[in-house]
Amino acid sequence: MFEALNERLTGVFDRITGRGALSEKDVAEAMREVRVALLEADVALPVVKEFIAFATERATGEEVIRSVKPADQVVKIVYDGLIEMLGGEEPVPLNTNANPPAVVLMAGLQGSGKTTTSAKLALRLTKFDRKKVMMASLDTRRPAAMEQLAQLGKQIEVATLPIVAGESAVQITRRALQSAKLQGFDVLILDTAGRITLDEGLMNEVAEVADIAKPVETLLVADSLTGQDAVRTAKAFHERLPLTGLVLTRADGDGRGGAMLSMRAVTGLPIKYLGAGEKVDALDVFDARRVAGRILG
Ligand code: GDP
Repeated sequence: MFEALNERLTGVFDRITGRGALSEKDVAEAMREVRVALLEADVALPVVKEFIAFATERATGEEVIRSVKPADQVVKIVYDGLIEMLGGEEPVPLNTNANPPAVVLMAGLQGSGKTTTSAKLALRLTKFDRKKVMMASLDTRRPAAMEQLAQLGKQIEVATLPIVAGESAVQITRRALQSAKLQGFDVLILDTAGRITLDEGLMNEVAEVADIAKPVETLLVADSLTGQDAVRTAKAFHERLPLTGLVLTRADGDGRGGAMLSMRAVTGLPIKYLGAGEKVDALDVFDARRVAGRILG
């Protein structure tokens, strides 16, 4: 994660650390380099601008310039700023406090990792939170996707709603709600249909399902490798469907980090989890401190 950005930023900070005393000009120059590094990492321009304005103001303050180790203070300012950009120090936990079944709706484009993430989340909730979880696929146009979720369910020993051919997404939703309630499941994860691109049909369907299922959590799953496209997708979904959080997949292969660093500021939504690999246990609770530490570490 973040190899490219890490390399750039450590380079910038190594240069000023070696210098001892810093002038306002040195700090401004370092901030210019940070700006370029963030833009090369594909962070959204308004996010970069705001960050640099804030960090420069703090880093050129008297107390920094005149301090014993000004470079360390500049690094700390950038570290704090990154945490802020990523949504703050405290992870935002998944809410499953609702009349059972608490519904978690998973939305996103096809190929974003939605089905895999549904299973990863089910496994976490089962293993760590001792919840009784059921999953259901609403991808009526892609029988293979429904079968994939059933297979994953078998693998992790989590119940999936039996597949009935010919039902609509709304019909499956109603059956899943009823079935989960009758069988005493705590959480119902609904894996909605994905499409290659955002389209009106997809949005209408997800919105209709959300109306019926009244989810406590509506998570958008987005592929971090798609950079600003992931951010645009999240924004478009959120305009149509009140999302409660984001899951960024393929963080394990993300050398740049632009999607992750832009998401919070652009959408206002917390990143709740990171997909960190193909295996069913590769889902990490999002921790801004850890991410910022990696970027600067
Ligand atoms: P969906 O179409 O959105 O349901 O996507 P899938 O869940 O089928 O995932 C598509 C591919 O991405 C699969 O090969 C997954 O194993 C892979 N994948 C999903 N999440 C991650 C992740 O966090 N890291 C990596 N490396 N691969 C992932």
